[in-house]
Amino acid sequence: MHSTATEIERPTMRPAAATRPFALIVEDEAALVELIRYNLIKEGYEVATATDGEDALLQIAERQPDIVLLDWMLPKLAGIEVARRLRSQQATRNLPIIMLTARTEESDRIRGLDIGADDYMTKPFSMSELTARIRAVMRRIRPALADDIVVVGDISMDRAAHKVTRAGAEVHLGPTEFRLLDYFIQHPGRVFSREQLLDAVWGSDVYVETRTVDVHIGRLRKALSKGGGDDPIRTVRSAGYALNV
Ligand code: CA
Repeated sequence: MHSTATEIERPTMRPAAATRPFALIVEDEAALVELIRYNLIKEGYEVATATDGEDALLQIAERQPDIVLLDWMLPKLAGIEVARRLRSQQATRNLPIIMLTARTEESDRIRGLDIGADDYMTKPFSMSELTARIRAVMRRIRPALADDIVVVGDISMDRAAHKVTRAGAEVHLGPTEFRLLDYFIQHPGRVFSREQLLDAVWGSDVYVETRTVDVHIGRLRKALSKGGGDDPIRTVRSAGYALNV
């Protein structure tokens, strides 16, 4: 793969940053946070943590996770209020939420699910139960993150084999183009700015000019259209790029 003049390759580039699902743990019990964090990292997740409801909303606005594990009893803003606000906003309406709570009353459980939580765990719970529930929620809501083989339109991506096909024909992609496509496939139809793509695919700790994104989008387009298919990537003027669905 040729390197562009604007790109500085660094060994610190996070490998497969775009393929790891991103979870936010919102919980004020430090020991439980650590336990969940450890288990999610083992499951292949990238993990961030927040210890109160306000911080959770700020972090979500900054970078949207793929799933939120949300404690009910939190300082500053209760978990149920956090869930309510997330559900009331367009950008986070479908964000997967699993509520964590010490409450056992059935009415609370129903309230949690009413507000739009995707699932509900009553403390204490085992880590294997939690990870199984997370997998189930992710599979239901974001099949692209739960499975190794993902299909969007006539594009199929096999993550385990690192292979992409379009209309059955193999598409050869460089590692950056593969990560770009993987990120688009996780969010089909959604428009991403060059800055968002840089953060997600290159990593925010790597210095790369935004123009580099255009170069790699160009390569990705060329590779995907080689077999004669339509260009599946849409350019949104002054906004960025999206994968057509
Ligand atoms: Ca709590």
